[in-house]
Amino acid sequence: MRASTTATASAAAAFGAGLRAGRIPVEDTPPGAPGAYIFTMPELPEVEIAARRIARAVTGARIESAVAPGMVTMKTFDPPLESLAGVAVEGVRRRGKLFVVELGELALVIHLMSAGRLQLFDKRASLRDRASRLLLRLDGDCELRLREFGTQQRAWAKLLPAAAVESDEAVATLGPEAWPAPSAPELAALLDQPRHLHPLLRDQRTIAGIGRSWVDEILWEARLSPFKKGSELDGEEVERLRVAMDGRLGAALEHYEQVLGDTVPDKLPMPLAVHRRAGEPCPRCGTRVEAIHYRDYVLCYCPQEQTGGRVLKDRRLSRLLK
Ligand SMILES: [Zn+2]
Repeated sequence: MRASTTATASAAAAFGAGLRAGRIPVEDTPPGAPGAYIFTMPELPEVEIAARRIARAVTGARIESAVAPGMVTMKTFDPPLESLAGVAVEGVRRRGKLFVVELGELALVIHLMSAGRLQLFDKRASLRDRASRLLLRLDGDCELRLREFGTQQRAWAKLLPAAAVESDEAVATLGPEAWPAPSAPELAALLDQPRHLHPLLRDQRTIAGIGRSWVDEILWEARLSPFKKGSELDGEEVERLRVAMDGRLGAALEHYEQVLGDTVPDKLPMPLAVHRRAGEPCPRCGTRVEAIHYRDYVLCYCPQEQTGGRVLKDRRLSRLLK
């Protein structure tokens, strides 16, 4: 673990410069975006910090009742939610981007998808709160609430026997955790696929926990092109990627530990250097950060350090020209 601690410390230090300059962007609604809220899907550091904070607050609390106002939220019906009445919360942990709420012989597996949040409230939800998807009412009037913003209902939960969690499809198909990072040989074997690094690192079956925000940051930190294929990486590049992955995710978590209090807000102050920073100077070399717009996300990179000086074609523009 020494190597990963060092990597985390160096990434945190490299990042300090940006933080001191007040460059902590808050991910929020882009100008002109439709709908009231556009949320970034929580990834490994965001789910991990939420799991830690919730675990700290609710471990030992007893569930009075559990209800699912979300019509399609529960993906299981046996055992029924009613069986949670009287059960104590034994812990809350994370696997990939999933929460696992440990409930003795049972466990709740929760996926926030892109717009869900799992939060603790000291009052019970109003029946008119249309964002409510799943409510765990705890003794002392506290409520653990799965909420989802926007009109789509995509966040989901499964109530399973605790022993069935690891073999559940959502968990069993996950690759190893991105943080702490796997060993270099293990990572090299995982990434040895003829696929571009950007989608490959976001593929939860390959490695678990990275999404659209942190993939940009990790590739930038490692100075690797998002379009390099996993199978084209040499040993030195795999190691750079491993250190960047471990360092940036670890530093993000450390950052959240320092800046967040007992509760995790809807919008997190994500310590990002290039993601959503197109047009700004690269914090390392000053080159303009470029972006490629896809239908529902944006890929950001530094051309000077990642693509050999080449600015890649933005598909949004080519689509407009068709
Ligand atoms: Zn740069």
